[in-house]
Amino acid sequence: MNQRQNAQIYSDELAGNQNRQNVMTIFEKIIARQVPAKIVWEDEDAIAFHDINPQAPVHVLIVPKKVVPRLTDATDDDRALLGKLLLLARDIAKKLGLTSGYRVVINCGPDAGESVPHLHVHLLGKRALAWPPG
Ligand code: AMP
Repeated sequence: MNQRQNAQIYSDELAGNQNRQNVMTIFEKIIARQVPAKIVWEDEDAIAFHDINPQAPVHVLIVPKKVVPRLTDATDDDRALLGKLLLLARDIAKKLGLTSGYRVVINCGPDAGESVPHLHVHLLGKRALAWPPG
């Protein structure tokens, strides 16, 4: 998917959310078990599951259950939650055997290619990852 398509999905999702308050994102539907996912970890604060369109042999999304659309919208009250997401990335990387390294990514807004307006951390590993990203 190119950046233009991503931006379109992003603005469609945003428009949808503004027009239809309370509309659930795909991640809320996964949290509510309305949509299936390959869950690798869950507690009262967060859930982690395999990305449906993996960009590496291991590609897991770590998603807070609290609805924060994106990092820009996080507040100081979310400090502990944000820290927890990173430590979960550490723990899940260990659990999934990412011994030679991994990458943690947060896409924020259309220029970054964000397509789901519910904060999430990508954990990618089990292959060498190029830098800089596209
Ligand atoms: P982003 O582009 O940073 O907003 O990431 C959204 C991610 O969610 C993409 O990598 C998608 O492949 C992934 N995704 C979308 N729908 C699903 C789904 N039903 N299950 C798992 N991952 C999904």
